[in-house]
Amino acid sequence: MSQSTQTDVNKWTIEDAERVYGVSSWGGGYFEIGQNGHVHVIPEPHHHNVRIDLKAVIDEIRDENIQFPVVVRFHDVLRSQVVNLNETFAEVIADAGYQGKYRGVYPIKVNQMREVVEEIVDAGAPYDYGLEAGSKPELLAVLAYNTNPNSLTILNGYKDEEFIKLALLGRKLGRKVVVVIEKFSELTLLIKVSKEMGISPIVGLRAKMQSKGQGRWQGSSGERAKFGLNISEIIKAARLLEQEGMSDTLQLLHFHIGSQLPEIRAIKDAVNESARIYSELVKMGFGLKYVDVGGGLGIDYDGSKSTADSSRNYSVKEYVADVIYGMREVCDLEGVPHPHIVTESGRAITAHHSCVITEVVGEIKPDGAQLDTSEGSNDHILLKNMRDLAKYLSADINLQESYNDATQYKEQASDAFKLRVISLEELGKIETLYWQIMRKIKYFYADRDFVPEEVQSLDFSLSSQYLCNFSIFQSAVDSWAIDQILPVVPITGLENAPVNDGSLVDITCDSDGKIDKFVIEHAIDHVLPMPKITPGEPFYLGLFLTGAYQDVMGDMHNLFGRLNEVHIFSHDDDPQDFYIEEFVRGSSVEHVLSVMQYHPSAMAIDVKKLIDKEVAAGNIKPREGVKWTDFYEHCLAGYTYLNTTNK
Ligand SMILES: *Cc1c(COP(=O)(O)O)cnc(C)c1O
Repeated sequence: MSQSTQTDVNKWTIEDAERVYGVSSWGGGYFEIGQNGHVHVIPEPHHHNVRIDLKAVIDEIRDENIQFPVVVRFHDVLRSQVVNLNETFAEVIADAGYQGKYRGVYPIKVNQMREVVEEIVDAGAPYDYGLEAGSKPELLAVLAYNTNPNSLTILNGYKDEEFIKLALLGRKLGRKVVVVIEKFSELTLLIKVSKEMGISPIVGLRAKMQSKGQGRWQGSSGERAKFGLNISEIIKAARLLEQEGMSDTLQLLHFHIGSQLPEIRAIKDAVNESARIYSELVKMGFGLKYVDVGGGLGIDYDGSKSTADSSRNYSVKEYVADVIYGMREVCDLEGVPHPHIVTESGRAITAHHSCVITEVVGEIKPDGAQLDTSEGSNDHILLKNMRDLAKYLSADINLQESYNDATQYKEQASDAFKLRVISLEELGKIETLYWQIMRKIKYFYADRDFVPEEVQSLDFSLSSQYLCNFSIFQSAVDSWAIDQILPVVPITGLENAPVNDGSLVDITCDSDGKIDKFVIEHAIDHVLPMPKITPGEPFYLGLFLTGAYQDVMGDMHNLFGRLNEVHIFSHDDDPQDFYIEEFVRGSSVEHVLSVMQYHPSAMAIDVKKLIDKEVAAGNIKPREGVKWTDFYEHCLAGYTYLNTTNK
């Protein structure tokens, strides 16, 4: 196992597990390692005694015969995040004597699942928390689900005439629908359509900001930003509305400088810049009411509280304070009213509420099978040399030299095999000896202060690859696409010191389908310390903070479809208890095939015909033929992932 996690095995405590996996650091108060060595969920951090053992959730899922992998959604966590953001704004607004209100919206692109949106709307109702849509399909959903006349519906993204008409339908239904102008021509279209229909719109202008966010999404601001109006266009847009007698429709100024902002400075700068634009527009006579500071509130995925791309160097409270105090300061200097504040935080609302539970279904060891390497009479000299090296290896000799020799023999053996000098059997024995030598060298170095670089890399090359029943492309697409770090933790066995190290590979036929970056002891490591896995007993890993984007952006690579999902609520009366409120079935094979234009029922008939033909020819017994036909249909209707339950 890696040097960093070497702790005295007998003195291992839950605190050590906590230090290694950092659960409390990224858990946001919702996750902890319990005294029993299982990962626990605390659905509402103010009620610390209410805790759910994830192992108990897994047992329940198994009892219900629901197949893994499974997305576990904690609706209490989602509600708690909505309440927390709204309460934090309310508190800071009161403390600051700020005169505007907070009118947040949830951008549904971050997780459009109906149950997620419904829960957010419900939890946000007391705060008039609204929704944001960035496309026509999202707008159609938002129109149906955001029915509170006091909350905002914010529309971003590029728009066509239908999109604008749908927004105006929202106005007819008495909603506060704000059409945010992303490019100038949208405004001319909006003016034309709203006049034709005789419906007054609410207009927002998105500003292209000079203030840049850092991190992965910094391209969302600056002159080459894809969305927004530059300063001259903002002035032109305001004047156009004035000329058309529609000044009063201009109510909101919007910006969004990128998602997952790691640096609080960027937020302060952008708030300041937007406050100046807002103030000037107000002084030009436009009665703007809202400033929308967009999304970007980050998540500390790696628990480092740093400016690393997967982290953030501020708390929610600091973020809120910087928005409110920053806005107040500029407005007071300019003598303009404090605007209502809108945020479009998506990631911060949803990331914690769901995780993926996957079963470890195999272990791939680099040294594979161990052949018998005892002496034979005609052994080739390369095999003899390797055997001698293994035999005389001890802590007292020059280990680095042994490492080099072994590596050289192995390379020579590979060449010799290709030149037909040694046999397959001899090559296999040399390989077995090589890995034995490497394991020993690593072992002898374990308590030394200086470890050469090659030997350090043995940690990784000797580590196992754990085969997990899931697809990165479906369940953790950002870890593949943009190197996003997501916490991975064994669900059980954390009460004992880890016994092994490994990286994860998924079940797709794609060598990119792997996870080999983990946050271990607050640093990036290529292997995950693993507890003992008992053969024959299922073992589960949790992939956490998947509620934002990961849940909905996955693809069907290899035709692995959407996951089975369970929705968990805690019981008020029993602090240890929970119930599965809903089971949402994942994609069936039939479903993913039909998305790709197959006709599963016709396929079943075709395969039956083929089987019948073999039955007629006497190659399959009639009774067997029926079984094969049923089996094919059973698999078509089944789950796309590995069936480890054999039910
Ligand atoms: C994606 C997006 C958001 C959400 O950003 P988060 O970082 O997830 O909070 C908000 N507003 C706009 C305009 C976006 O494009």
